[in-house]
Amino acid sequence: MLKAVVGLQFGDEGKGKFVDYLSGNINNIARFNGGANAGHCVQYGNVRGSFSQLPASLNKKNLYICQGALISLPVLVKEIDFIKNENINSSIFIDPRCHVVLPLHAELNKASEKYKGKNKIGSVGVGVGACVEDKSNRHGIRLIDTLDKEKLRSKLAFLWGIREKQINYVFNEQVKLDFEEMLETTHQYGKRIEPYFTFTNEAIGNLLDHGDDILLETSQATFLDNSFGTYPYTVAYQTLVQTCFAMIGIPAQKMHIVGVMKAYMIRVGNGPFPTELQTEQADYIRERGNEYGTVSKRPRRCGWLDLCLIKHAVRLNGVTEIAITNVDVLAGIDEIKVAIAYEIDGEIIGSDKALLQLDKVKPIYKTFKCWGELKESYENLAELPCELVDFLNYIQEYAGVPIKYISHGPDRAQTLIA
Ligand code: GDP
Repeated sequence: MLKAVVGLQFGDEGKGKFVDYLSGNINNIARFNGGANAGHCVQYGNVRGSFSQLPASLNKKNLYICQGALISLPVLVKEIDFIKNENINSSIFIDPRCHVVLPLHAELNKASEKYKGKNKIGSVGVGVGACVEDKSNRHGIRLIDTLDKEKLRSKLAFLWGIREKQINYVFNEQVKLDFEEMLETTHQYGKRIEPYFTFTNEAIGNLLDHGDDILLETSQATFLDNSFGTYPYTVAYQTLVQTCFAMIGIPAQKMHIVGVMKAYMIRVGNGPFPTELQTEQADYIRERGNEYGTVSKRPRRCGWLDLCLIKHAVRLNGVTEIAITNVDVLAGIDEIKVAIAYEIDGEIIGSDKALLQLDKVKPIYKTFKCWGELKESYENLAELPCELVDFLNYIQEYAGVPIKYISHGPDRAQTLIA
């Protein structure tokens, strides 16, 4: 059966921790979307890994990178070296049809952001968006295309010809890359990855036929979805979990979906954020939660939990249970607010409509008493402070699905099962 982890907010909910945690009993983990624009941090004891290409696990597993994932070759190679150096002897399978994010794409993303000026998306500038454009325009470079250097030269030259003109004449910038160097490094990295090439649709289809479990890791999160998120402040592709079927290349089927959410909201980059805090409470959350981007290191915008969005994300993805993280971060704050409805000009509006004008909505809040500092570890739920239990009960009732996991620290061991 497919078991998936999906983010219910704007990303960085702690999905990596839950992929690692849930992978305890599952031997196969697959990634099917996104690229090095999203990083997942995982910690177990003294080992801390940051993954943006390989599925996030510090356990020995079968790791699949499926067709919809976008590959930054140096980052992938670094992550493969990391797990090998840590003696995590996972087996790795990579679909040769994955598209490659080139240094040229990074330059394009940066030039396009500069061109957009104050309307910029706030992209991390890795190049994933430009890579997706080339994929749709049918002149992208797939992993399989990197192996034959002369064929790669001709494909890259075509792409370079188009994109260099765009950078020079549309964006008024200069390409700072060397074509021959990009060709050579792309070819060399491709050769290094070649031993892992596998048609992952077949591999995963076979596992499902045998009744094996596969854990799916969704990169980014619901409200960065290109269609149902806060467009245009989104990524360039869809992030809803059900896109996995097309991105892996398997038929739609029933799956178990864990929605991961933080006990508050954060957002990196631009875009509307109704519950954003501009007060010292935001600094409190940011410092205690170490809310700085894994990839970009940018300070994250922080705000109160928005249950309108959480409930909407639960329904959009078909979430079956929730994992809530970072309840330790809020501890000690005087009072906690949670958005439970949206209003525009005195009228209550639903989430679909609100998402089209999220910069205009006024959140209506419910206030909760906060809990005191949490302990390092807990044996069971009964030990949790009653204020925290009230907060959790309200969330699961509002969202309409149970909270199954409560994470009160970054370590794998700091997780309670409800
Ligand atoms: P992801 O992209 O959704 O995997 O999230 P990130 O890795 O960007 O951010 C999650 C961060 O929060 C990581 O640094 C985790 O180690 C950390 N983290 C996860 N769960 C908890 C928790 O319950 N409490 C605290 N304080 N940190 C957590």
